[in-house]
Amino acid sequence: RSKSAGRNCFTIYDEAMSAELEARNTLEGDLRDAIAQCQLEVHYQPFVDALSGARRGFEALVRWRHPTRGLIPPDQFILLAEETGLIVPLGEFVLRRACADAAGWPSDLAVAVNLSPIQFKEAELFEMIGAALADSGLPPHRLEIEITESVLLERGSENHAFMERLKHLGIELALDDFGTGYSSLSYLTAFPFDKIKIDKSFIRNLTHQPRNSAIISAIVTLARGLDMSVTAEGVETREEYERLKALGVNFAQGYLFGRPQPIERILFDAPVKRSRRDAA
Ligand code: C2E
Ligand code: MG
Ligand code: MG
Ligand code: MG
Repeated sequence: RSKSAGRNCFTIYDEAMSAELEARNTLEGDLRDAIAQCQLEVHYQPFVDALSGARRGFEALVRWRHPTRGLIPPDQFILLAEETGLIVPLGEFVLRRACADAAGWPSDLAVAVNLSPIQFKEAELFEMIGAALADSGLPPHRLEIEITESVLLERGSENHAFMERLKHLGIELALDDFGTGYSSLSYLTAFPFDKIKIDKSFIRNLTHQPRNSAIISAIVTLARGLDMSVTAEGVETREEYERLKALGVNFAQGYLFGRPQPIERILFDAPVKRSRRDAA
C-alpha cells in the first residue's frame, strides 16, 4: 500500500515537473514572439529631488502586454529572459525606446535604464549604448544606467573598465537595490558610481524602525564622503518622505510621487517632442 502511494506520489511529482517545464517552454516561446511583435512596453516612474520635490527624471521599467494574460510585470519574465539570453534583445529594445522617449522630454529630465548582468557579457554593449544615444539624439548626461551589485561580483576588472568608458561618455551610473545582496562597502569605493539607490525594503516601516533610519543615515554619510548621491526607492507615504528628507537623502522615488505609467499618461510642463518611432 505504501509502495503504490509512493509510486503515485512519484507520478504526480513527475507530471508536475513536466507541466512546469511545458509552461516554461511556452513562456519562452511567447517571450521570443513578444520581442519580435513589439508586445513589450516601457513604463516610466518619476524620481524627485528630495528637498524641493521637483521632478528630476524617470526610471524606465519594462512590461509585457501578453495577448491573453494581460500586462505581465518584469519580475515574472526577467529571470527567464536572462536564462535564455533573450535579455539581450529585450534590453536593447528598452534602452532604445527609453532614449527615444526621453529625447522628447524637457531637457532637465533624465532617464534611468536597468541593465542586466547578462548584458554586460555582450561584446557589443558599448557600441549598442552609443548607437541608442546617437540615434535618439539624447545627450549622454541625461542617461543613467542602473546596475545591481551582482555585476561587480563577476568579471570585476572588465566591468570596471566598461563602467569607466560609460562615465567617460558622460553617462551616470547608479548602484541599484543597495543593501539587498552581498553588499560589500569596497564596491562603493572601487567602482565609479554617481548614485546609490537604497532598496525599498529599508524604506518600509521606516517610521517605526529606528534601525532602518540608522542604516540610511550611515549610507548617506558614506555616499557624501565618496561624492555620490543617494536615492530612496519605494517611498509610499508622506511620513517616510519627511523622515528621508531629514536623513539627508538626495532623491526619492516611489508610489507617493507616481506609479510607473505608459508615456502617454505622463504630464510634462513643456510640450513633448514625439519620438521618431511615433512619428513614423
Ligand atoms: P528596480 O529597478 O529596483 O525598480 C523598482 C521597482 O520598484 C519597480 O518594480 C517599481 O514599480 C517598484 N516600485 C516603485 N515604487 C514603489 C513603491 O512605492 N512601493 C513598491 N512596493 N514598489 C515600488 P517593477 O517595475 O515591477 O520592476 C521590478 C524589477 O524588474 C526592477 O527593479 C528591475 O530590477 C527589473 N526590471 C524592470 N525593467 C527592467 C529592464 O528593462 N531591464 C532589466 N534588466 N531589468 C528590469
Ligand atoms: Mg532600477
Ligand atoms: Mg531598485
Ligand atoms: Mg531590482
